[in-house]
Amino acid sequence: MNVLPALRTGKPRVEFGHVKPIEELEIPFAIIEGAEAGPCLLITAGVHGSEFCSIESAVQLMQTKPEEIKGTLVILPILNVRSFHNRNIYIMPQDGKNLNRMFPGKPDGTVSERLANWLVTEVFPKADAYIDCHGGDLDEGLAPFTIFPAGSEKSQALAAAFGIPVAVAAGGSGYTVDAAHKLGIPSILPEVSGNGLWGDDTVGMMTSGIRRVMQHIGMLPGDAPITELNVVTMWVPTAPVTGLWYPKKDLADPVAKGELLGEIKTVFGETLASIHSEKEGFILYRLTSLSVNEKEALLGVGTPV
Ligand SMILES: [Zn+2]
Repeated sequence: MNVLPALRTGKPRVEFGHVKPIEELEIPFAIIEGAEAGPCLLITAGVHGSEFCSIESAVQLMQTKPEEIKGTLVILPILNVRSFHNRNIYIMPQDGKNLNRMFPGKPDGTVSERLANWLVTEVFPKADAYIDCHGGDLDEGLAPFTIFPAGSEKSQALAAAFGIPVAVAAGGSGYTVDAAHKLGIPSILPEVSGNGLWGDDTVGMMTSGIRRVMQHIGMLPGDAPITELNVVTMWVPTAPVTGLWYPKKDLADPVAKGELLGEIKTVFGETLASIHSEKEGFILYRLTSLSVNEKEALLGVGTPV
């Protein structure tokens, strides 16, 4: 089966199974259809297979009962299955590429490019709203924030319903929620927990945010409280050189323009690079690994817009 089953049949149901977006890949899915008609919400997790808080949140939401909701919940809890089992960071092991840089993908490309293409052509167009769950990877500490495509008011409204006060207005392209936004689907990418950690508090933050979005779009009863957002842009310096990473700032620390953010040294103590902030703002996430490779992201500085 290389397509998902029908999302709307008119009968309440739960359908669990596996779908083969491409020959080399089989991923789990859940479709939960409510008794009453309503919107279709797509939830994906495990684009990065070691961001376990996001994956466990999606797994827990798969236990939603049809009688609880209007419309259809489609959940793809582990897109990057091999990374999940291998506990890889960043990439799809099959081609060494970061799936969240590959959108809209290519029908004849590598594994991650073809998976992105399948999502864009077969899955995103069926959704009325989309949440792609992330967090800090195994080597990243992170204070929660929600990414939305800059300029998309409907996506920003989903972020306000989700409830994390810090929201990143993201530019650029190549990532899940930008590709979905370009198809006209309001989309957000919440980032909760860091270092691959998961527990009741962080999983609860993710699942309750998703439930508030479900209220916002009319899938669950009640009105979602709307959080006043601190909208920021994110600047991400990358390592100019391979070495040992010594950050000087902690999560949420304020940062002045020109301030030293960290240094990269050799094992013998020689400083190879000093990273100074090009922006004023505060630390959204940071690499916690001592080891850093050239071109890897070191941290994110959020600057209020
Ligand atoms: Zn991620």
